[in-house]
Amino acid sequence: MYRTHTCGELRLSDTGKRVTLCGWVQRTRDLGGMTFIDLRDRYGITQLVFSMETNPELCEKARELGREYVVQVTGMVRERSNKNFRIPTGEIEIEAEGIKVLNSSELPPFTIEDDTDGGEELRMKFRYLDLRRPCLRDNILLRHRAAREVRKYLDSQGFIEIETPMLIKSTPEGARDFVVPSRLQPGMFYALPQSPQTFKQLLMVAGFDKYFQIVRCFRDEDLRADRQPEFTQIDCEMSFVEQNDVLETFEGLAKHLFREIKGVEFTEPFPRLSWKEAMERFGTDKPDMRFGMEIKDITCIVKGKGFGMFDNAEYVGGICAEGCSEYSRRQTDELTEFVKRPQIGAQGLVVIKYNSDGTVKSSLEKFYSNEELQGLMRHINATPGSLVLIIAGNREKTLAALSELRLEMGNRLGLRKSDTFCPLWVVDFPLLEWDEETKRFYARHHPFTSPKPEDIDLLESAPAEVRANAYDLVINGIEIGGGSIRIHDSATQKLLFKVLGFTEEEAVSQFGFLINAFRYGAPPHGGIAFGFDRWVALLAGEESIRDVIAFPKNNSGRDIMIDTPSPISQQQLDELLIEIKRRNSQY
Ligand code: ASP
Repeated sequence: MYRTHTCGELRLSDTGKRVTLCGWVQRTRDLGGMTFIDLRDRYGITQLVFSMETNPELCEKARELGREYVVQVTGMVRERSNKNFRIPTGEIEIEAEGIKVLNSSELPPFTIEDDTDGGEELRMKFRYLDLRRPCLRDNILLRHRAAREVRKYLDSQGFIEIETPMLIKSTPEGARDFVVPSRLQPGMFYALPQSPQTFKQLLMVAGFDKYFQIVRCFRDEDLRADRQPEFTQIDCEMSFVEQNDVLETFEGLAKHLFREIKGVEFTEPFPRLSWKEAMERFGTDKPDMRFGMEIKDITCIVKGKGFGMFDNAEYVGGICAEGCSEYSRRQTDELTEFVKRPQIGAQGLVVIKYNSDGTVKSSLEKFYSNEELQGLMRHINATPGSLVLIIAGNREKTLAALSELRLEMGNRLGLRKSDTFCPLWVVDFPLLEWDEETKRFYARHHPFTSPKPEDIDLLESAPAEVRANAYDLVINGIEIGGGSIRIHDSATQKLLFKVLGFTEEEAVSQFGFLINAFRYGAPPHGGIAFGFDRWVALLAGEESIRDVIAFPKNNSGRDIMIDTPSPISQQQLDELLIEIKRRNSQY
């Protein structure tokens, strides 16, 4: 037996026991007569003591141990005189009687501590060392617990976990597929699943009724902090349900996770906001509800007074940042710069100071009387002491810019606390999205999403108006999951394919198997998928999903530890009948 206890286990009540521990040398402190070692494993840290007086030979040996050596130590548990109440084992230490080096270690390239000196690139290259750091270790443990709770809850609700294939045909989620060449049928390719969407629908046709899977999905997209080329979904589907059944079931899952993982109890139902309302009030379909500062449409009020920027705009909207009327010129200039950034794209920012004494100060005084400005303050429910920030322009872009500005002000005012969770459902998304470039409609969600029955008649006459039976779970401004009630009759499916510009042949070649299956009694069904990485990151208080994935890819989609993507041998290429085109004589 290598060990009797872990390094996180021993307490004052264990005093006097002879124990054997195994672990990594976190650090060695040499205090002349005594040498202390912090021994670390997955469970925690235990202090070992070696005394020059009682066992000089052993003490010498301990002094020679380098960082990250793997050792086995036997000794007696004793009460510490200098207690460390910050760690659970801090009241005891092990008076070492014997030590065995199980393995030496090269000097690690960065310190294995939460506050490390290693940069991201270096830590990714040595991810197995990075994962020894307590903060990352805790994230991985939290991820495990979250997955376990998901399974527990869904099992209790009658869901069964079914695996679906990884080598499939293109899926309908709208990103680029990763493809895998077939050796047995050279020139042919599998696609890796962007999601198990079609399979879970087939499982409903098969009668499985309530399905889930914690499953890897692959999307070849441009990467951001919250995106990875491979990521994990909690993928779910249910039969004989309407939208409300799905929302209630998975609100239950969300509440269960928050209770079990964070000890947070949600007693009220999650608010539900229509997509239209979310866009109008927050300028986004993933509003951060931890704070108010809602967007107010002031188009009608400000137009027609001779101020060109407003008069020529399709939409004028504003937000009101409480307690910011004292902002300096430099601060308001910063905000103007912020909204003019290319990613945000506003033409400019109009700033009105609604001072604590009730007076209004702005550059608009030339165009608006004092009464008019006071009226404007009332219209947007501004309270004295606030800074009112106004953007004008094209409706969609201005709302998006106001949304970003609102988040920026939320950050500046400390209103986006990572330990506050504000979930909501956004419902009634538009079914279709017009693409100016290709001049056609795309399914906003995917082509199996059902239109709202009352909007079906509009499908051909006013497609942009059709609302979908689709919903997203949003928490703190992050889209945690989304799904829809599906189309289950072939007539509606055919009609939608038509509106989406699929010819019958295209629809059959891409989704023929599903269309066929629907001929054999498809039950009404619907489902949802949650981004598991994002959810865990939110629970862990991490900004980036990379911090909750054991072996993530970097921003360019590389795994720099195993060094991939990488070339394959000529023999492999030959077997696959693949020839690499050279780009500008470069490899
Ligand atoms: N397959 C969808 C997605 O991955 C979710 C769903 O409709 O269930 O976004």
